[in-house]
Amino acid sequence: MSLNDTPVSERVHIAFFGIRNAGKSSLVNAVTSQEMSLVSEVKGTTTDPVRKAMELLPIGPVLIIDTPGIDDSGELGSKRVERAENILKETDIAVLVREYGSEPEKSETDLIRLFEDRGIPYVKALTKADLYGGELKDGDSDGNEIALSSKTGFHIKEFKELLGSYAEKNKGKEKKLVGDLLNPGDTVVLVIPIDESAPKGRLILPQQQTIRDILESGCSAVVCRDSELQDTLSGIKKKPGLVITDSQAYGRVSKIVPEDILLTSFSMLFARYKGDLFELKKGADRLKTLKDGDRVLISEGCTHHRQCNDIGSVKIPGWIRDYCKAEPEFSFTSGRDFPEKLKDYSLIVHCGGCMLNEAEMRFRINKAREAGVPIVNYGIAIAAMNGILDRCMEVFL
Ligand code: SF4
Repeated sequence: MSLNDTPVSERVHIAFFGIRNAGKSSLVNAVTSQEMSLVSEVKGTTTDPVRKAMELLPIGPVLIIDTPGIDDSGELGSKRVERAENILKETDIAVLVREYGSEPEKSETDLIRLFEDRGIPYVKALTKADLYGGELKDGDSDGNEIALSSKTGFHIKEFKELLGSYAEKNKGKEKKLVGDLLNPGDTVVLVIPIDESAPKGRLILPQQQTIRDILESGCSAVVCRDSELQDTLSGIKKKPGLVITDSQAYGRVSKIVPEDILLTSFSMLFARYKGDLFELKKGADRLKTLKDGDRVLISEGCTHHRQCNDIGSVKIPGWIRDYCKAEPEFSFTSGRDFPEKLKDYSLIVHCGGCMLNEAEMRFRINKAREAGVPIVNYGIAIAAMNGILDRCMEVFL
């Protein structure tokens, strides 16, 4: 994917599920008009989820995920099922692929229950309709169920339109990153330290997305490093509508920005955009009551630490120890790994999750809530430990 493409985290995630040999991979290939997945008469050809970011009309930018068959048995099979279930965490729209005219298997009804329990909209695609002896009519599509044929192309267009209508419903819930907090014409100052953890020659995704949203909202973005912030603020004639800083520069920035100018961080904006800002804020209260031996999970949404450098592994644990004046026990996860059992943790400290989509971020927050474990993100934790959390929340109230 090139830097100009829509980020994966902003694409509609459409995952295809079904028993082995239901025609899942053929349908994925027919929908994407590409040989995205290996098609074989041998059951269980798809052993790992196959992902592809693409433009899919009439939806737009999507991430198509072809998952392993869900009816596998034995150790390898159960591992595959687990992986398919894992995909649901990030799924915006699920497709259950079943052979036309077949009796539903238990694994399929279980999967539908899972979609419904998690509130994931789903479509039932009844494949291989060309093998059905009778005559197929438009009436064979009903509600979220559609009979189709990947081989002849029957109802493939209609299937895509059905997916499009689901995506459209999701769009109704579309949120702004920062635009709704601003008035047209506002000037927003963004503070971006350029240190050794900043990638060479470019801004990171959350910064790019914030600037884009500010511009789209008819406002101006002024970008500077923390070292130039004082001069930048003095040079702006009109009082800025908001200052947004990298969380790691909170301490310095909050001293420079006058109290009558609203201040927040990229991390807090993203906590609201694709998580639950108020739940994460509540989690910050747990920081000060941590004791020796309490288990703290530090979880990062991707495996490349380039953008976040040693913040999760070194800085955050160090700041927490200093803040709570105790020696909690830290564990770490990254990428798609997120523990199934959370109840033994006293606190989860999550990264900003810029590489995760909203569905996955919400799944993690809900898991923590269900387990009764407070969860906070890096930016909110840092603001709390710097004593400026209330100030940084003002813009959202
Ligand atoms: S997903 Fe998390 S760890 Fe990865 S770059 Fe974004 S904030 Fe950093």
